[in-house]
Amino acid sequence: MIDIENFIAGKFSPSQSMEWIDDLNPATEEIFARVTNSDARDVEQAVEAAHKAFPEWRALTMEVRSELLLKLAELILENIDELARAETIDNGKPIKVSRTVDIPRAAYNFSFFAEHAKDFKSLRFDAKDMHSRVYHEALGAVAVISPWNLPLYLLTWKIAPALIVGNTVVAKPSEFTPYTAYLLCKLIKKAGIPDGVVNVIHGQGPRFGEALCTHPHIKAVSFTGSTATGRMINQYCAPHFKKVSLEMGGKNAAIIYSDCDYEKTLDDVMRSAFSNQGQICLCNSRLYIEEGIYHKFKNDLIERSNALKVGDPLLDNTDQGALVSKTHFNKILAYIEKAKNDGGHILCGGKRVGEKGFFISPTVIEGLKSSSICNQEEIFGPVVTIRSFKDEAKLLEMVNSTPYGLAGSIFTKDMDKADYLARNIHTGMLWVNTWMKRDLRIPFGGVKQSGLGREGGDYALSFFTQTKTVTR
Ligand code: NAD
Repeated sequence: MIDIENFIAGKFSPSQSMEWIDDLNPATEEIFARVTNSDARDVEQAVEAAHKAFPEWRALTMEVRSELLLKLAELILENIDELARAETIDNGKPIKVSRTVDIPRAAYNFSFFAEHAKDFKSLRFDAKDMHSRVYHEALGAVAVISPWNLPLYLLTWKIAPALIVGNTVVAKPSEFTPYTAYLLCKLIKKAGIPDGVVNVIHGQGPRFGEALCTHPHIKAVSFTGSTATGRMINQYCAPHFKKVSLEMGGKNAAIIYSDCDYEKTLDDVMRSAFSNQGQICLCNSRLYIEEGIYHKFKNDLIERSNALKVGDPLLDNTDQGALVSKTHFNKILAYIEKAKNDGGHILCGGKRVGEKGFFISPTVIEGLKSSSICNQEEIFGPVVTIRSFKDEAKLLEMVNSTPYGLAGSIFTKDMDKADYLARNIHTGMLWVNTWMKRDLRIPFGGVKQSGLGREGGDYALSFFTQTKTVTR
């Protein structure tokens, strides 16, 4: 049994509450670890440590901080097998995903920002009788709060930009998947990052979220998670005028035209629907297929979905692992029942797989109106709805009909059509003839109830700094 403890001022210790939460392997339902359940007293300690470490960390040159982050990236890659296994045991995702996506990307988050930030320089504006400088200053101690779906990937996506510009961090990983954050702390120590620069507190968000976000020494809060929690975080931060970045839920659509590159589109749509058990905020969960190819595409989609190997995530040939928790598993089965009640036809999947572990077969649902709950709310599992379309006006109405606006994909060879749609779909991000291709320099984030602010490249560095202008 592993004890997952807090990491404060460079030391591991249990929460002062001395309370623990079981950490379950969702594929076997066995408890493999217990995670310390923090409260406001631990927040106080962690924020104090981050606050104390700030002046020294900020005073280091960007080059020194960059070297430390590169060292950490190297250590993550050296430990990829242990980290990938830990991520899979904790989250239920296939080991091949942990090994090729989650952990390499966590390392890349550090090496990317270590290099990218070198160009994030102060600006100079000269006029005839006036000379101005704009400096980007670190904020101080910042809080980062992350979800369970891409545990180390999303946690490091926030820690790296915060650190490189000179902030110190109090990080709060999901209580459902704390294991790789715990292992990361050991590597942070090994990399030589000074004590107190990164502090990690574990446990249930509502127990200490408000204490963390409203702490006077916390200068900004970067959150990724559900829209409901994001709304709460925003409420905590608003009266204190804190900088807040919110990356929240999605209900993304893929639009598939008859003139698409058919086989590649089918591959991309399958990936976008079922990768990570459909538990990626960017997953496409509504598929709009042009009338002319609707029946063929539907049948191919069903055949491909039925062929996915669902099961033991530690096996190399598994395509779809377990859902993260029993609560989440039950929530998804409940959505499938709601779809049936709304007149939806389950074309494939829709059921539990096996008797142990939280497995659900890839599910395709037809016949639901736009107003159906399964076309409006984020399900966040291996479930997609499909619908045919004829004309663009009606298509746009359906695509834009949800309260979310994160991402989407358009599949067509007609670039004028793709461009027209892309500019009329209400999301922060769109892909044309692909899905989830990411250049870390470009802005990442959603509109409507999917997000506030942008991550990525200079957008993240701007969030984690404040400008000061000096004019003479
Ligand atoms: P969640 O909102 O339940 O939890 C996210 C984090 O917030 C966890 O660490 C949790 O402990 C913490 N938390 C919960 N209540 C809190 C509170 N009152 N104060 C402070 N922290 C609190 O989300 P989840 O179920 O872990 O993750 C799934 C959600 O995340 C989905 O909605 C998904 O779309 C979203 N997500 C969005 C993005 C994006 O970039 N837009 C990326 C990944 C996941």
